[in-house]
Amino acid sequence: MPRLLPFSGSRRARLRPTAGSGDSGATAGVPGALRALGVRPSRRLGQNFLLDPRVAERIAALVADPLEPVVEIGPGLGALTERLAASGRLVVAVELDLRLAEEVERRLAARPNVRVVRGDVLEQRLGDLLPGSAPVMVVANLPYSITTPAVEWVLAGGARVRRAYLMVQREVAERMTARPGGKEFGSLAVFLAMHAEVKPLFRVSPGAFYPRPEVESVVVEVTPRPYPGSTEAERGDAEKLARAATGGRRKTVANALARGMGVEPDAARRLLSEAGVDPGRRGETLAVEEWLNLARAWARAAAGRP
Ligand code: SAM
Repeated sequence: MPRLLPFSGSRRARLRPTAGSGDSGATAGVPGALRALGVRPSRRLGQNFLLDPRVAERIAALVADPLEPVVEIGPGLGALTERLAASGRLVVAVELDLRLAEEVERRLAARPNVRVVRGDVLEQRLGDLLPGSAPVMVVANLPYSITTPAVEWVLAGGARVRRAYLMVQREVAERMTARPGGKEFGSLAVFLAMHAEVKPLFRVSPGAFYPRPEVESVVVEVTPRPYPGSTEAERGDAEKLARAATGGRRKTVANALARGMGVEPDAARRLLSEAGVDPGRRGETLAVEEWLNLARAWARAAAGRP
């Protein structure tokens, strides 16, 4: 399974609660519905519920095939679930908060095509949620607390996941889609580039959620695919090297690599030269292809090959 170490970032910090929008459906009267259930939105569970039905519509409409099955991570009160299920497709919704799982099941009881699974999505196997080999979509207003592992979980689904539409914090979306040289470019972007194409689609303002987060969110489209012309081992090494040699305070990739991978500075410089990378550059400026070249040089050195 593709793995990425946690990366740092601010939480979806909450400000003062705002009133519900008064719209119909699962977005209506969110604060009141939570109160009635005795649910105080949990930061640990990344509980920022969608208030704006237009946003829910817009996300659901991204899943163009009306019959393609969908796995939803964290249905909450069902804002996305009810729209995803409206076409009659199978929706498997995995919810960790048991009170919400029960509530969304109750709200959507009239829809036999919705199946609510109780538990942590990260502990589920896609093949258990949706047996068979047919392609599936993953949709989520992601709990910020599990953004990185949830993205890893989606990519661990491999070719089975045709596409994922994920709402994430804007700063995370920027890191996911960053280009080399930009200040957001780091191990998350390298990791994603190895396994997927990622496109930012649209922004969602803090006012669309309850409780209101401090920052904007962005819906991103993630299309799993292995980086062209690379092997699994090369991709794994490139991720490892990028993780070790970006994001730190060390200014040159040679120093960062030596420190992060536990090799002598001279050996790090040799590897970089062999990969055609100037050892004096910063790790954040290396393109994905250069991380792969470095991974190939690393593997040759490990095998004792010139
Ligand atoms: N989809 C709903 C919406 O848009 O209003 C709720 C989104 S809220 C940002 C995230 C949801 O994920 C919450 O319902 C939370 O309880 C649930 N959740 C948090 N961690 C989870 C996990 N590890 N597995 C499954 N669900 C989780």
